[in-house]
Amino acid sequence: MALEKLGKALNNALRKLARSGTVDEALIKEVVRDIQRALIQADVNVRMVLQLTKTIEKRALEEKPPAGASKKEHIIQIVYEELTKFLGKEAKPLEIKDKPTVLLTVGIQGSGKTTSVAKLARHLQKRGYRVGLVCSDTWRPGAYYQLKQLVEPFGIEVFGDPEEKDAVKLAREGVEYFKGKGVDVIIVDSAGRHKEETGLIEEMKQISEAIKPHEVILVIDGTIGQQAYNQALAFKEATPIGSIIVTKLDGSAKGGGALSAVAATGAPIKFIGVGERIDDLEPFDPKRFVSRLLG
Ligand code: GDP
Repeated sequence: MALEKLGKALNNALRKLARSGTVDEALIKEVVRDIQRALIQADVNVRMVLQLTKTIEKRALEEKPPAGASKKEHIIQIVYEELTKFLGKEAKPLEIKDKPTVLLTVGIQGSGKTTSVAKLARHLQKRGYRVGLVCSDTWRPGAYYQLKQLVEPFGIEVFGDPEEKDAVKLAREGVEYFKGKGVDVIIVDSAGRHKEETGLIEEMKQISEAIKPHEVILVIDGTIGQQAYNQALAFKEATPIGSIIVTKLDGSAKGGGALSAVAATGAPIKFIGVGERIDDLEPFDPKRFVSRLLG
């Protein structure tokens, strides 16, 4: 699992705390600095790290431990709580309430968007939903076939037309098509590349206005480090981001960059991609994630 290094570094910091005799201001500051270093080395956005560690330090210095807990235990609890809060606090499962629920996925080419759309479709299908996929990527002719190939073995239908040049029209027609078929969930996959970035963002806005999705899902590559924060902000400016899928967390990714995307968009991570196979998608739970990270 990626982020192992971060977990180790955070654990070392907390172990330093556990091993020491008395807990004084100097020790707290040292431990907070260690946590800071660990997060920055894992590529978490520096500004976010400073904010986070400032809160941890302030709480650790000022708060009195609750009855029955030692100072050390309380500080460990603070670190746990603040990290969890940073990642979105509560687990927020994807809600499928209306029929059909329309989802729009956005993200740049190579982020793992197409794979994630297929994984998500399969995930929902396994939970009993009928899913239809719309490929509105008019820039990469292979996108439609790639998606089709990924989901065809499971009988999931893909609407698309590799000849069509109008992405907004494709998205609108695709949604209408699947509405007519009475599916439960329609996932519209948008382009990840354009002649220029402004074109990509503009197209996304138009698609979003045309199909009025229940939720826009941003797909972020877990391996891109510090860029993730700005990338997430750029997408957020175009359309409200409802949730995030972080991909490729199975590899050697430091992962912290993508985690910063949460802070940038304010949207929770709902799934993480942990491999190339269609079943390699896990619902994300911040509490469990931090527990695992801190071991
Ligand atoms: P797109 O251009 O954003 O649509 O990206 P693709 O879905 O085509 O994915 C790009 C590459 O990343 C492909 O080789 C995928 O198999 C790979 N990929 C996607 N998600 C994951 C993941 O969670 N783990 C790993 N290891 N590879 C992934």
